[in-house]
Amino acid sequence: MDYLIDRFNRKITYIRFSVTSKCNFNCMYCVSHIDEGEKTEEFTKDDMAFLFRIVSKLGIEKVRITGGEPLLRKDIIDIVRSASINKDINEIVLTTNGSLLRQLAQPLKDAGLTRVNISLDTLRREVFKKITQRDFFENVIDGINASINVGLTPLKINTVLMKGINEEDIISIAELSLKYPVIIRFIELMPVGNNGFWKDHYMSFAEALDIIKRKYELSVSEGAKGEVADYYKIVRSGGKIGFITPVSQHFCDTCNRIRITATGKIYPCLFSKESIDIWKAVKLQDRNELIKLIKKSVEIKPVGHGAIGKDDKQFIKNMKELGG
Ligand code: SAM
Ligand code: SF4
Repeated sequence: MDYLIDRFNRKITYIRFSVTSKCNFNCMYCVSHIDEGEKTEEFTKDDMAFLFRIVSKLGIEKVRITGGEPLLRKDIIDIVRSASINKDINEIVLTTNGSLLRQLAQPLKDAGLTRVNISLDTLRREVFKKITQRDFFENVIDGINASINVGLTPLKINTVLMKGINEEDIISIAELSLKYPVIIRFIELMPVGNNGFWKDHYMSFAEALDIIKRKYELSVSEGAKGEVADYYKIVRSGGKIGFITPVSQHFCDTCNRIRITATGKIYPCLFSKESIDIWKAVKLQDRNELIKLIKKSVEIKPVGHGAIGKDDKQFIKNMKELGG
């Protein structure tokens, strides 16, 4: 096996693949700026199948399918299947807003999807509408139930912490881990699009942990290998509660991932300004050129992103393109 190891001796075993930048939600924290004239044509399922085949021979063990909203792709089942047929890729996970999952959970499972992460920031319908600008709360709950029923588990729920918007939901979302065997992951808000939203609504994980500790006794729990979250358990609960802390305690030292966009760019870091263009190599199915470019993207992977918040230069331009 030809492994991908960067200049800081980090082995790259995980690809986050944004299969489309399109989305049926418009979440207030997920801004995207597309430059005039920027290419919007996205990889076909055959392009993706080629890509999965190549990366599976470079030590990639885990693929996350994300977006935009990945379930908007009409060929999403074929995309998942084309990843899962590569035996060296042993984990295929999908991050979704959940709105289309009720119908797709079973076919996704049948196509080889290992599990799903569903984004849900509130359990209040009106607040859900305010955050996502869509009235799809019930659809998401149906998607969660369908995923548990078909065994796309352990199911993870991603909740972005936003001061003044969903603080009141922290306890009720944490309590889902008492009712269901789910893993709740509270995520620190990251600055996207330099929009000022971050400055007004950022909330550290420590504040959220404190809110939960005031009501519940927590024990520290194990995460899976390569996880970026710290985990806790409410005593006697079946589920877990984790915190993803890209702002207050970034996890760059152990970063094992690169990101690929639907328009053929590899970003070695979520905050990278630099990307490597693989569009042509994939379209031409040029194996050697593609491997060369993937290796180059790993070579330029930065040691880490700097502290966030001290100035306005550290922000993500297009979250939907990068996939979170
Ligand atoms: N549409 C899918 C979804 O919402 O799950 C997948 C794409 S979305 C970009 C991936 C993840 O990024 C979601 O869990 C979302 O909550 C998270 N996300 C988006 N913008 C964020 C921000 N500004 N800070 C932290 N997380 C963010
Ligand atoms: Fe769409 Fe996901 Fe971004 Fe919300 S977080 S706008 S669902 S891509």
